[in-house]
Amino acid sequence: MPAFPRSSARAAADSQLRFNLRKATHTIRGKRANVVAELPDWLELRAAGKAIKDHTLRNLDRYLIQLERAVTEAGGHVHWAADADEANRIVTDLVKATGETSVVKVKSMATQEIGLNEALHEAGITAYETDLAELIVQLGDDRPSHILVPAIHRNRAEIREIFLDHMGEWGRPAPDGLGDDPRALAEAARLHLRERFLTTKVAISGANFMVAETGTLVVLESEGNGRMCLTLPETLISVVGIEKVVPTWRDLEVFLQLLPRSSTGERMNPYTSTWTGVTPGDGPREFHLVLLDNGRTDVLADEVGRQALRCIRCSACLNVCPVYERAGGHAYGSVYPGPIGAILTPQLRGMDTPLDASLPYASSLCGACYDVCPVAIDIPTVLVHLRARAPHEPAERAVMRAASWLLARANRFGAVQRLASRLRRLIPRRAPGPGPLAAWTDTRDIPPIPAEPFRDWWDRTEGGAR
Ligand code: SF4
Repeated sequence: MPAFPRSSARAAADSQLRFNLRKATHTIRGKRANVVAELPDWLELRAAGKAIKDHTLRNLDRYLIQLERAVTEAGGHVHWAADADEANRIVTDLVKATGETSVVKVKSMATQEIGLNEALHEAGITAYETDLAELIVQLGDDRPSHILVPAIHRNRAEIREIFLDHMGEWGRPAPDGLGDDPRALAEAARLHLRERFLTTKVAISGANFMVAETGTLVVLESEGNGRMCLTLPETLISVVGIEKVVPTWRDLEVFLQLLPRSSTGERMNPYTSTWTGVTPGDGPREFHLVLLDNGRTDVLADEVGRQALRCIRCSACLNVCPVYERAGGHAYGSVYPGPIGAILTPQLRGMDTPLDASLPYASSLCGACYDVCPVAIDIPTVLVHLRARAPHEPAERAVMRAASWLLARANRFGAVQRLASRLRRLIPRRAPGPGPLAAWTDTRDIPPIPAEPFRDWWDRTEGGAR
């Protein structure tokens, strides 16, 4: 994919897309603000969430081993995956071992991150998405554009078209005469998915949290489709990033308050499913947990960037971001769009491609993302930190080195200011272009240069006293 400025240009020019995004993000944003304002101790909760995550990340090795022991004692199997290839291989082998050729999936960002559906497809296994928004994305042969609402860029008329045109290719077709009323669309999806749940024997999920003390995995969702996935099949395979562990149930309680209010603007999410190993006569008979690293250990090693691993994927930062609102999620070229994507993706994938190197610049640094983040990730600081790590053109590096030399000593800077004052009539109001700097100079005027630099004026008048 091209760098972010180019990849976002098409979305920014699509007025329908911008309308859909604006309407959806502003609605969720308003709901979030209302329910957060209800809690007098929201800031204390936020600080607690941050502290728990920081403590867990500092002791991640200990809590992951505790988690592995608890899952195994409860009858589950734990697999460690260093990268996407290893995780895909483990899951594919586990599905093949069941003899099945199809699986149902609960919405999971980790499996999107590793491209699991594509890997399963290559192995002759069909993955059926069951989250309503993911279903829309899959039927439309589309890509998710939001963490929480992957089909946020679609309106209901478009969804109706997708259902009518493509549902039949994946199973039960949409009913004749389907309208674009949300209830009718939801009912069509429910009937389509119900058949799938009752006939599929293997499920693949992610998890919002893993509780180390009991080996329990937790999924929060709104529709109940996730719970069907987690309970009806015979085999359940959960692929979860290693940073999702929390030490105790008491810690979990903090996030069960922070997440729904930050994500859907609800006091509590409609469905919270928890599962611990296997229980005879209840739920899946076999349970596998695939613990995914895929770059997270490297992120952990960066003292500034590691706070991105605190993320609980609520998407509040997307909903307030002026850049996301216009660019949409696809422009970020990653399963993680918006402000969190701009700091997480370049850390997980590196900055070797033009797109990944441009992501730390996909922000106005307004700080709205930091204000709403329920675990207080200082996204603007991480963005600036990553900009320093990103590759730069030789000319840009030379200019920055010169600026650094100049600004390092007050007398040097003062001398240049005096020179600029003397030459001010020769300096144009607009920087010359076009050229390599045109993207910067075309949209900015050079401010008028005063006849006397401020420092000289200050010295001459003793700060305006004379
Ligand atoms: S960075 Fe913060 S606001 Fe954004 S998705 Fe993660 S937890 Fe939510």
